[in-house]
Amino acid sequence: MKRIEIATLIQSEEFGKEVIVMGWVRTVRISKNVAFIALNDGSCLKNAQIVADLSVIEPTVFDRIHTGTSLKIVGKLVESIGKEQINEVHATAIDVLGEANPDHYPIQPKKHSLEFLRENAHLRFRTNLFGAINRVRHHMIFAIHKYFNDRGFYNIHTPIITASDCEGAGEMFHVTTLNLNNIPKTQTGAVDWSQDFFGRETNLTVSGQLEAELAALALSKVYTFGPTFRAENSNTSRHLAEFWMIEPEVAFSDIHDNMDLAEDMLKYLVQYALDHCAEDIEFLEQRLINEEKSKPQNERSTMTLRQKLRFVLDNTFERLTYSEAIEILKNSPDQKKNKFVYPIKEWGADLQSEHERYLVEKHFKKPVILTDYPKEIKAFYMKQNPDGKTVAAMDVLFPQIGEIIGGSQREENYDKLLQRINELGMSKKTLWWYLDTRRFGTVVHSGFGLGFERLMLFITGMGNIRDVIPFPRTPKSAEF
Ligand code: ATP
Ligand code: MN
Repeated sequence: MKRIEIATLIQSEEFGKEVIVMGWVRTVRISKNVAFIALNDGSCLKNAQIVADLSVIEPTVFDRIHTGTSLKIVGKLVESIGKEQINEVHATAIDVLGEANPDHYPIQPKKHSLEFLRENAHLRFRTNLFGAINRVRHHMIFAIHKYFNDRGFYNIHTPIITASDCEGAGEMFHVTTLNLNNIPKTQTGAVDWSQDFFGRETNLTVSGQLEAELAALALSKVYTFGPTFRAENSNTSRHLAEFWMIEPEVAFSDIHDNMDLAEDMLKYLVQYALDHCAEDIEFLEQRLINEEKSKPQNERSTMTLRQKLRFVLDNTFERLTYSEAIEILKNSPDQKKNKFVYPIKEWGADLQSEHERYLVEKHFKKPVILTDYPKEIKAFYMKQNPDGKTVAAMDVLFPQIGEIIGGSQREENYDKLLQRINELGMSKKTLWWYLDTRRFGTVVHSGFGLGFERLMLFITGMGNIRDVIPFPRTPKSAEF
């Protein structure tokens, strides 16, 4: 007989049927004649309710059963009189598969802090919270592929090791096989990368965009969904050194089509979560309510998790230019009352997440898409506007998160692109292949990057990006 998964088991009304259930003990409670075990196998949030009559099951076996112990239960499915579940399993045999000594097993049936669970990331999957987060994460990954597949996009694997710096920010991890204790040098004393594995300087990619563009200029509609790496030493709750990014790239598409795509995709993903992760979302919503209670009144969110998700679904995203946003921010009560940590000084400043959140949460009370940023604060490949000062960039701003998507129409004009590359002192030589697409059959095209973990923060209502990826990589932290 095969094991039945708990997600299936808890819905079954085949009372009287013999079943085999396996999983990890969440709680065990023993009274005089009977023992109750809540067993979880991760297939869903809920536990199977196991009832063991101590005249049927040898009582000494319970000396070995604690939270975290893995068990195989053979038993009979019985209708439950409890309100919590429709059935329970009356055990006829209990096999202890693996013990978990309660003196050493760190995950106990009580509230653990998120910090503690991060230090025990190898076992935090076994909590209700991390089970829920990781199931939602899976559904979101699947939904992203489904969204694009249903709309005729092709998934492209772009390289993880590259020789170019797409964002020009220089926050990259080197990839090398050089002996770090004896680095070969050129005559001028610089590192001699020609002796390295690839015969040149290479790094982990910060974005798959440049290569995705090459594919889009042939397959029309493509997307990447891969790991990206940024060695930015920013210890914030929104930045990881290793994160996953979704990057669609579309030929014959301008910045307006690009905004439509971003808004449609985000709404689709939020709706998908509500439709396919109802139980876990409800659990996460309750967690958020409890957490809000511990905050001072004036810092509490007025929306529940599902209200926040609906906030995205029910509103048309507000679209305005960066310049308009700067005016709003400059004249805002928050600016005048000195509430911003970084007050807005003048046109040209990069926006901080406090400004982005102000626009979304206080001013417009809906998600916002800002366009036409100053070219100085954006990457070289963005389409230059006729004003000579701005580029056709678009950032999508969300409540709680700030920037969730960054994108743009791309500069398709060879001369203008080359001029910008030169202005920025970038190497034309390493980008020859990128420039070639503007020499041969160039077309208007656009794309964007959605940080997958930023999306996960929003969908789960978690506050720290370290908790929505199974194994976070951040400065000074790469355990597990
Ligand atoms: P930020 O200003 O928030 O650092 P960015 O402007 O550097 O973002 P982009 O280079 O436009 O971001 O990257 C596209 C998207 O990738 C962002 O909108 C965000 O969702 C996500 N992202 C960027 N950096 C990180 C990071 N370090 N960790 C997680 N997600 C990130
Ligand atoms: Mn950044």
